[in-house]
Amino acid sequence: MKLSKEQVIDQAYKVGLMDIGFTTAEKFTSQKEILDSRRESYEWTYKAGWPVLEGTDPKTFLENAKSIIVVVEPYFSEAFPPSMVGKFGRCYQDDDRITKDNLVPRLISFLKYLGANGIKSKPPFHMPHRLSAARAGLGTFGKNNFFYSNKLARKSSWVLPVPIIVDHEFSPDEPTIEVGCPKWCKNACIAACPTGALNSPNKIEPRKCISFLTYYSEDIPPPEVREQMGMWVYGCDRCQDVCPRNQSWMAQELPVNERVAAKEKHFSLPKLLHMDRQYYESNVFPHMFYTPAEDLWRWHMNVARSIGNSLDSEYVPDLIRAFQENGDERVKSMCAWALGRIGGEQAKVALEGFLGQSEGRVQEEVKQAIEKIAN
Ligand code: SF4
Ligand code: SF4
Repeated sequence: MKLSKEQVIDQAYKVGLMDIGFTTAEKFTSQKEILDSRRESYEWTYKAGWPVLEGTDPKTFLENAKSIIVVVEPYFSEAFPPSMVGKFGRCYQDDDRITKDNLVPRLISFLKYLGANGIKSKPPFHMPHRLSAARAGLGTFGKNNFFYSNKLARKSSWVLPVPIIVDHEFSPDEPTIEVGCPKWCKNACIAACPTGALNSPNKIEPRKCISFLTYYSEDIPPPEVREQMGMWVYGCDRCQDVCPRNQSWMAQELPVNERVAAKEKHFSLPKLLHMDRQYYESNVFPHMFYTPAEDLWRWHMNVARSIGNSLDSEYVPDLIRAFQENGDERVKSMCAWALGRIGGEQAKVALEGFLGQSEGRVQEEVKQAIEKIAN
C-alpha cells in the first residue's frame, strides 16, 4: 500500500518544507515550444551540456514517472547583510547545494521517506521548476518570468520551487499557470532591467541578462554594457527588487540571516579582487559555484567592474595592484576601465604608467580610460 497524498503532505511539513503541490508527469510542451522557437538564444545551454530541451519531458529523468511533487522554499526569510545586497543575487547568498546545511538535509529526509515507502523519486536540475510549481497550483508568474508563491513570503517571488519526479500517481492540484501581475503596474520590471534583457512581458534574451553575463560570459563584456551591469558581481535581483508584488515582504524589518552574516567577511570587494584559487575554493565556491576555479578571471573581472561602478576612489589602489598582479588580459582590461570610470589624479597617473607596459587590447583599454578621465 503506497502513501496517500495527505500522508506525503504531512511528512513534507514535518521535515520543515514550507509548501507542497502535485502535478502530472506530462511533458512541458509549452516550454519545449519556447525553447524550439528560440534556439539561438538558448544555444549556449546545449553547448554547456545542459539538457534543457530534454528536461521538458519528466520521463527523461525517471522512466516510470507518474507525478511531480513540487515543494517551495522561501530563500529570503531573514535579512541579508547590506554590504552583499545589490552585488550578489539573494538566492545565491544562502544556497546550500554544496554546503548541504539548510534546505538539502530537509529534502533528503523527505526523499528518504518516499523511498522507505516504495516510491522512487528524482529531483532533476534541468526541469522547468517554475512552470512545475504553477502547474501544481502553488503560484503564478510575473511578467519578469519569476514565480510568485500563492502563500509564502507574502506571495512574493523570493521563493525557490523544487520539483521532484515520482513513480507513483497522486491526484494533481488545480494548475495556476497565469500571469498574476496587477493591471495597474506599468511593467516596472521591464523598465528597470538595466541591459534590456527583459524586453517585453515574459520574454527575456538570456544572453543579455546580468546573471548570465556574470556567471557564463567567455569574454570581457563590451564597454556599453559595463555601466549597465552596475554593482552586480554574481547574479541580479533588479527586476524583482522593483516589483510591487514584492514590496510587502521587502518592507519588513527581518532578523539577520546568521549563516550569510558569517560569510560576509569573505565577500568584500577588495578580497574578491585579489583572491587566489585557494581562497576561492574555500570561501566563495561552496556558496556561489557556477564558475569553475579555472575561470577565476571571471570573478576578478566582475569585481573590477563592480568597483569601477562604485565610483569610490578608496578602491583605486586595489585596482592598480590588481592590474599589476593579475596576468589575465580580461581582468587587466577591466581594471583599466574601472580606473577610468572612477577617475581622479591617482587613477590617471597609474594609467599613464600602464600605457607603456601593456599591449594589444589591454593597451587599448588603458588609452580609452585615460581619454575618459581627460574628458
Ligand atoms: S535579472 Fe537583471 S538583467 Fe536579468 S532580466 Fe532581471 S533585471 Fe534584467
Ligand atoms: S514589476 Fe509589475 S509587471 Fe513586472 S512582475 Fe512585478 S507586477 Fe508584474
